[in-house]
Amino acid sequence: MRIRSAEFVVGSVSESDRPTDGLPEIAFSGRSNVGKSSLINRLVQRKSLARTSSTPGKTQQLNYYRVNDLLYLVDLPGYGYVSGGKQLRGELGKRTEAYLHNNDHLRAIVQLVDARHGPSATDMAMIDWLQANMKTFLLVFTKADKLSRAKLDRMFKELSGQDRLAGLSYTPFSALTGAGRDDVLDWVAAAATDR
Ligand code: GDP
Repeated sequence: MRIRSAEFVVGSVSESDRPTDGLPEIAFSGRSNVGKSSLINRLVQRKSLARTSSTPGKTQQLNYYRVNDLLYLVDLPGYGYVSGGKQLRGELGKRTEAYLHNNDHLRAIVQLVDARHGPSATDMAMIDWLQANMKTFLLVFTKADKLSRAKLDRMFKELSGQDRLAGLSYTPFSALTGAGRDDVLDWVAAAATDR
C-alpha cells in the first residue's frame, strides 16, 4: 500500500467519541515505550504524526489515525511492563478493555513486543486473549536494530518452540532503519480490506 494521506482524527476517551464513518480499524497494542508511536510514524512515513516520547505511560486515550480515507490505525494506550500475568483483566486499562470487547469495526490487532526483552507477562496474557478472541493478529518485534540477525533468529526459534506461541505470525521491525515496514503495512492493508 502506498500512503497518500494520514491524519490524526481523535483521541478517544469514550465510546461516544469514536469515529462513526464505519471504516475498518487496525489496533496497535503493546507496553509503554515498546515503540508503538515510532512504528506508526514509520508506517505512514511521517516523523511525528503519533507522539513519541521516552516517558512511558503518558497517553491514556485511543488515538485514531485515518490513512488513505480507507482505514484507521488505532493507537491503544501502552500498558505496564512489570505487572501482568495470565489474568489480563485490569492490566490494559478500562478504555482499552471497552474498545476490545465492544467494537464492530475492529478487524485486526498488531501486538508489539520489544525484541530485546521478548514478551512480558502482560504481553503473554494479551497474546492468549488474541488467540481466543481475534481471528487476525500479528506479533511485531520492535527495535530489531538493537539485536544481531543471529540473536533475532535464535529468539524466534525459541519462541516458536513454546506452546503458547507456536504457529503464530511474527515479524521483526525497526523504526530506525525501516526494516519490516513494508511487510507490516501490507499486512495492515490486507487485514483492513479482507472480509
Ligand atoms: P511508545 O511509548 O510505545 O509509543 O514508544 P515510542 O515510539 O515513544 O518509543 C520509545 C523509545 O524507543 C523512544 O526513545 C524511541 O526513540 C525508541 N525506539 C522506538 N522504536 C525504535 C527502534 O525501532 N529502534 C530503536 N533503536 N529505538 C526505537
